[in-house]
Amino acid sequence: MSHLFAFDYHNPTRIVFGPDSFAQLPALVPADARILLLYGGGSIKKNGVYDGIRAALAGRDIVDFGGVEANPTLATLNLAVDLVKREKIGFVLGVGGGSVSDGAKYVASAALYDGDGWDIVIGKYAPKAALPVGIVLTLAATGSESNAAAVVTNTATLDKRAFYVPPARPQFAVLNPTVMASLPVRQLENGIVDAFVHVCEQYLTYPVGALVQDGYAEAVMKALVRLADTFAEHNETVWQQNLMWAANQALCGIIGVGVPQDWATHRIAVELTALWGIDHGRTLSIIQPALLRDLIEYKREKLEQLGREVFGLTAPSAEDAIAALEAFYRSVNMPLHLRDAGITEPDAADRVLAGLRAHGKMALGGHAAIDEAKTERIVRAACR
Ligand code: NAP
Ligand code: FE
Repeated sequence: MSHLFAFDYHNPTRIVFGPDSFAQLPALVPADARILLLYGGGSIKKNGVYDGIRAALAGRDIVDFGGVEANPTLATLNLAVDLVKREKIGFVLGVGGGSVSDGAKYVASAALYDGDGWDIVIGKYAPKAALPVGIVLTLAATGSESNAAAVVTNTATLDKRAFYVPPARPQFAVLNPTVMASLPVRQLENGIVDAFVHVCEQYLTYPVGALVQDGYAEAVMKALVRLADTFAEHNETVWQQNLMWAANQALCGIIGVGVPQDWATHRIAVELTALWGIDHGRTLSIIQPALLRDLIEYKREKLEQLGREVFGLTAPSAEDAIAALEAFYRSVNMPLHLRDAGITEPDAADRVLAGLRAHGKMALGGHAAIDEAKTERIVRAACR
């Protein structure tokens, strides 16, 4: 019999959305706190976001740390942790996309831990406290600005790992869609696909009769498909507003309550970024279709529902739904195989499998009981 699972949902991240939202920063950031302004490779210095935040927080005690990479590394974030400890920082303000948001959560929790911060990433140490975090989002994709997840890469072991740090969930997220104007087209494409796959990870499992969650997931996916269809309008305010909100709702937790979740696409895909630096969104479009084809019997009902409700197909088969999904990805220039992303090494699949083995991720489990043989088939089908 189908039924919802028990859940306990609490998402206290306050969201301030709109073109004038920077003006709220003085009220959002505690007046007496020494602030770490954490940011990435410098886009915020070129597009006026840095100046806008500095102006809004004029007179506040702010220490800068720039240089957080896309797919942030442990080594760089640990430099920020040292700075936080040295400068007695009391608040971490991350300004950027998912990489900076994730980095802010790591820094805020590692700063209150005397051991090796990697312990937090691998789950050896579960932080009970973190410095307060706030995010000014500049790239709509991950939903990291209002969830408790983070992803950090250890370059020494090529291990890109997701982990949960509830104490570091942002207290607020400032979503100002006008800052997306400076985003390269590639990042907008990535954002559509990352958000879409986040919904899939919480939807493409098996039906449990969750009418609200299914309907909400389908609404977010339909919005993302519409944004892809109208990509030519990406400079328009309403397009940017819709992407920013869709990506947030895709992974703020609300869609996934009480339903089975997957995350196998993400768990495999991060290996591709660790090995070749491929953008996160692009690794997902490489892995997901192969994964869905391999697990089609487990996911048949929900794939048919996806085809019907999201892609508007009449009486679609699961195979039709996967084909529609691939056409959607192609429409936003996503690779569907590793070679489409320019990686043509003959032993590429072996390298991905070696990484999964080294990181203990060959048997992924989940509702489709992904064992080593299935993982190997999926990786070999995708990494061609
Ligand atoms: P990102 O890595 O944060 O940023 C990608 C690039 O976009 C950077 O080079 C950045 O430049 C640039 N950029 C950001 N905002 C810009 C703007 N307004 N104008 C111009 N350029 C801008 O991208 P992301 O896709 O948001 O984050 C990806 C990371 O998040 C991955 O590590 C992924 O694994 C992780 N992730 C986390 C979650 C989660 O729930 N926590 C979920 C999915 C993925 P600068 O560095 O110069 O600013
Ligand atoms: Fe993602």
